[in-house]
Amino acid sequence: MQTTLFDLSGKTAIITGCNTGLGQGMASGLAEAGCNIVGVNRRSAETTRQLVEAAGAQFLEIEADLGSTAPIAEIMQKTEQHFGKADILINNAGIIRRADALSFTEQDWDDVLDVNLKSLFFLSQAFAQACIQQQRRGKIINIASMLSFQGGIRVPSYTASKSGVLGLTRLMANEWASQGINANAIAPGYMATNNTEALRNDPDRSKEILNRIPAGQWGNPEDLAGAAVFLASDASNYVHGHTLAVDGGWLAR
Ligand code: NAD
Repeated sequence: MQTTLFDLSGKTAIITGCNTGLGQGMASGLAEAGCNIVGVNRRSAETTRQLVEAAGAQFLEIEADLGSTAPIAEIMQKTEQHFGKADILINNAGIIRRADALSFTEQDWDDVLDVNLKSLFFLSQAFAQACIQQQRRGKIINIASMLSFQGGIRVPSYTASKSGVLGLTRLMANEWASQGINANAIAPGYMATNNTEALRNDPDRSKEILNRIPAGQWGNPEDLAGAAVFLASDASNYVHGHTLAVDGGWLAR
């Protein structure tokens, strides 16, 4: 196996929501493979900048709230002004709201769908338009979830959004694969980040979850780096519309 297949030198990746958690783990992993990073965040991503720069790559910070599609044109413009192009898009920004389905509010539905699905689609559309116009290859990596495959409990809008991410990833592949764009997704299992803090703080749910993970432990942000580098690199040029679980074996049970 040629390791150059995984080399991302000279490439640029836009990663949404990388000031913490899984986005930070993937930013760091891509930078280690030589990739420059555009971090799109609601607030400063200083620690991520330090990790990226320590790996010898460049970091451009763009402040944006993906609760609406308004910042999308500017994200593409600023990336092109600074790096000339974007080769990779990782749609990682995501939120979760927990409440019983019987009392779930419309606000909690809209807020989650807007970030997790609507902005993901329209940013992907803007990225794909740029790649096609500039006749360049592009790699889209959407962050899905175990709830792209399963129903979940007390997270109706999250389940809807992440099931939607799996479907949209296939749709993007169907429409854009022939134009040199790979659209794939990564479905993380139960990872130790802010997103799962409430679960990890609940002794019963935490025990239940841990007992079901064949690997016997929660995942960490750095566990996503290998899958992200693979799907961002030439090693995955013929992989389209796939959702790759990185879940310690959760779905195998
Ligand atoms: P996290 O809460 O640490 O990170 C979420 C990121 O999204 C943060 O950087 C946050 O600032 C950003 N974000 C949220 N709303 C935003 C908005 N309106 N505009 C811009 N950025 C916004 O949690 P995480 O676990 O690192 O989550 C990253 C992704 O992974 C999410 O899509 C999440 O659904 C998904 N995921 C997480 C797990 C897990 O177990 N932790 C499992 C499956 C999927």
